[in-house]
Amino acid sequence: MKTFCGRANPTTGAMEWLEEDENYDYHQEIARSRYADMLHDKDRNVKYYQGIRAAVRRVKERGEKAIVLDIGTGTGLLSMMAASAGADFCYAVEVFKPMANAAVKIVEKNGFRDKIKVINKHSTEVTVGPDGDMECRANILVTELFDTELIGEGALPTYEHAHKYLVQEGCEAVPHRATVYVQLVESKRMWSWNKLFPVHVEAEDGEKIIVSPSEMENCPGVPSVCDIQLNQMPSSDFTILSDVVTMFSVDFSKPVRSASTCYRVQLEPVKSGKAQIVLSWWDIDMDPSGMINCTMAPYWVKSTSAFQWRDHWMQCVYFLSNEEPVLQGEKVYLTACRDEYSVWYKLQKARGEEENKAAVRVESPVCSCQAHLLWNRPRFGQLNDQNRTRQYIKSLMKVLKTDSVCLCISDGSLLPVLAHYLGAKQFFKANHLEDKIKIIEARPELLTSFHLEDKKISVLLGEPFFTTSLLPWHNLYFWYARTAVTSHLTSNVTVLPQSASLHMMIVEFQDLWRIRSPCGTCEGFDVQTMDDMIKNSLNFRESKEAEPHPLWEYPCKSLSDPQEVLTFDFRKTVPQHFLSTEGSVNLLRKGKSHGAVLWMEYHLAADISVNTGLLQISNEKGNCEWNPHCKQAVYFFSSVIESETLSDLPGAVTYAINFNPKTGDIAMDFKL
Ligand code: SAH
Repeated sequence: MKTFCGRANPTTGAMEWLEEDENYDYHQEIARSRYADMLHDKDRNVKYYQGIRAAVRRVKERGEKAIVLDIGTGTGLLSMMAASAGADFCYAVEVFKPMANAAVKIVEKNGFRDKIKVINKHSTEVTVGPDGDMECRANILVTELFDTELIGEGALPTYEHAHKYLVQEGCEAVPHRATVYVQLVESKRMWSWNKLFPVHVEAEDGEKIIVSPSEMENCPGVPSVCDIQLNQMPSSDFTILSDVVTMFSVDFSKPVRSASTCYRVQLEPVKSGKAQIVLSWWDIDMDPSGMINCTMAPYWVKSTSAFQWRDHWMQCVYFLSNEEPVLQGEKVYLTACRDEYSVWYKLQKARGEEENKAAVRVESPVCSCQAHLLWNRPRFGQLNDQNRTRQYIKSLMKVLKTDSVCLCISDGSLLPVLAHYLGAKQFFKANHLEDKIKIIEARPELLTSFHLEDKKISVLLGEPFFTTSLLPWHNLYFWYARTAVTSHLTSNVTVLPQSASLHMMIVEFQDLWRIRSPCGTCEGFDVQTMDDMIKNSLNFRESKEAEPHPLWEYPCKSLSDPQEVLTFDFRKTVPQHFLSTEGSVNLLRKGKSHGAVLWMEYHLAADISVNTGLLQISNEKGNCEWNPHCKQAVYFFSSVIESETLSDLPGAVTYAINFNPKTGDIAMDFKL
């Protein structure tokens, strides 16, 4: 059987559906899955184990048999904990077939074959009765179905169904309850991920300010959560306007309702400012007393000793639909609304008593300006990066002449507007700006002289940025588009950027290594079957692939100097032959070589570049500072080399990197 999988194609700038072996999907899902990260989450595992032991004890003390239902068993971990804690029987339900198969093997290997039954079904398909999947209803409900937003993976409908059909009334639940916390903040940095700020352009005839249209100003944006590693956000990047308050909680031991609802809390700002952002996170109490608590609270809320790094649960950033000035001590109301899978927020000033009493129903935000559909949060941040804009303005001023005929190829770019303000008279493709800029709705290869009103292009522009790009080099689509429009260019055309270069550096990650690192045993259970399965999936393609990560969220230390490995000359067309490079890079610092990071630098004009990767190495320890608006490519090495001292360093890592012009892909291989 074959299956179709979506993939970015840099040669066409499109998402394409490729026919893949039926196992491809499985392998991708397993190779990129969060199971390893969860198994490395010691704090989570220890607390689940404590909570499960306590629940089994409570049931036994009542003189009952302990029958466990573990929904979403994954590796079988929580069921094995329950069996070890003395549970009489466990039903371990897992919908994802490869995981259910792995759970069967892991359960057997750990000797729990008689105590745990793995059921490869979605929990809502599970039947109870003499001929059913479960002989009887369970009296302990164990799950780990939470995402960063708590409910985004469907925990509520799953619990609602389980209480109706699969567990006894008055059952024990691990976790027992979840609580969602919020804090109101002002943050120019985070707000820049949601609104387009005015752009200042120093033109020859004075400063001009480009402001976004009012429909964009007033747009409520999209309801999708922005989940980040909030612990990487320095406290200087936001101002706290309120205390941390409890927004809502869910008791998992009682029937759960998943239907849409709203919760409202009163806040008294601790500081005057502009309310823009609701920061949110949750904790789970593993037992009713609340003594076994696992929290996602960020660094300024909890003591550092309680800190556990994890990537499967982070923190949420919610954008209010408009910034709202608040005064210290003047009460405001914050409403959280949720449907089955997501949460959104609204802030209201306290006015008349009546108005406050009325239950507020707030509709889920719908983007009305299109920008929030076209640009994701990092893209907003990138467009608001004044420093970056300055580089484009400087280089545009160098290349534009009053009679330039410009063509811009980039998704949702401000370059045409900038160029217009800087004096370019003839402009094709972009947003409407009087009659000066013409948008051409044609793919570059279908561009005709009719579209261009029989003019030849003297300046070809790109940021380049394309919404389909996942890895840094996917923006090389600009090169393919440039090649496709060659016949429309003047013989001395200026191409901006004139070239791009690919850079590479060997790093040691502070934490990110965990997501791809084997686990061996977890709380005393042998989960090597899972490690082997992940390894097998990672090796499914002969050549391993790099994966995109926003490295400002994942601290790392450089072990080598950054090195330029390939260049792409946009003044020429895409070559027919491979661009290949081989070499070695010296290891300069001791540490663990977890992998290589790769990024692109665009050379806009002579001496002016924009860098999408390493901004600087901030100290002698090698700590790196990354472009906060871009994802970099991470290639994890299959084995990690560790050197305690410089003298036992292997000295160098050799690499071979290959750009295939037919596919636009970059393949790589490293030897330690
Ligand atoms: N319990 C494991 C794995 C948690 S990951 C652990 O704690 O380590 C959550 C798992 O639940 C995933 O494997 C997912 O496929 C599965 N899942 C989610 N909702 C489910 C449902 N309603 N029924 C069955 N499996 C579900």
